[in-house]
Amino acid sequence: MSTPANFCHEIVGSMSTGAAGNPTVVMIEAAFAHHGLHWRYVNMEVPPEELGTAVRGAKALGFRGFNCSLPHKVTVIQHLDGLGESASVMEAVNCVVRRGDKFIGENTDGKGFLRSLTAVTDPKGKSVVMMGAGGAARAIAVELALAGIKKLTLVNRSETRGQELADLLRKKLNLDVHLVAWQGNYSVPAGTDIVINATSVGLYEPNARLNLDVDSLKPGMVAADVIGNPPRTRFIRDAESHSCKTIDGLGMLVNQGIVGVEYWTGIEPDATVMRLALEKALGL
Ligand code: NDP
Repeated sequence: MSTPANFCHEIVGSMSTGAAGNPTVVMIEAAFAHHGLHWRYVNMEVPPEELGTAVRGAKALGFRGFNCSLPHKVTVIQHLDGLGESASVMEAVNCVVRRGDKFIGENTDGKGFLRSLTAVTDPKGKSVVMMGAGGAARAIAVELALAGIKKLTLVNRSETRGQELADLLRKKLNLDVHLVAWQGNYSVPAGTDIVINATSVGLYEPNARLNLDVDSLKPGMVAADVIGNPPRTRFIRDAESHSCKTIDGLGMLVNQGIVGVEYWTGIEPDATVMRLALEKALGL
């Protein structure tokens, strides 16, 4: 029996309070189309007070899972049946996966970053400097700790926020963390293997400058940015001009989508198809 082109076999989606996830829709549906999967990825606007009802509804309707964005990343946990390892450590979920009759919360933010990173270097045993201590930084730091880095230097403007993340990493993952209260131009210490911008500096602002002594970036260091739009941030350009190996934030976003598609469908989607679709959707 042939299947009509618009036959929808399975549904996954995104629960957010706005329509911010449209490029993700395009990227994930491009993967479904490329692999001949009759699946749909739909955006659903869910107000915070309706989140529990929406999760129960998705389960009743047979959804294979969904992404969720702020402000649902923490509050969704109480409506789920269990958590994956890193989501449980960071107490934040951005990807829900149906396993049998259970909805399990995962976090693909940090996993997407880790995939981009491991394509360039093995993080095990490495000394890492990370600027920022917000949600993206937390997700990345937890995955780096689980991947066995040697040491993390955490550089953040707000000391309180930095301290919270440092405490979590020390207590839950026994990670060696050195916290730096960010004042003036930060100088990356000699011997650092990987430098990460996990702040929001650079988002939609190609010339926004981090308070960083760029001459402390040395040849061979890996420099990674979480900012995906634009992908060639000032930090990435500075790192390139100092002969660092660079990883842009678009790779993290694509890899996050790849991990989600793998979780939901069990197939390994084509990364190039997804990146091209995302670049087109972002107008890059
Ligand atoms: P949060 O608001 O949780 O954290 C923002 C972080 O940036 C904080 O550490 C904050 O420091 C720091 N910061 C903001 N402005 C400055 C500044 N001028 N100088 C120094 N530090 C600054 O945001 P998220 O962690 O959720 O997101 C951060 C960025 O990561 C966003 O731009 C987002 O687009 C991107 N992102 C990318 C993903 C991808 O797949 N590529 C996935 C998820 C996020 P302080 O604590 O001192 O305020």
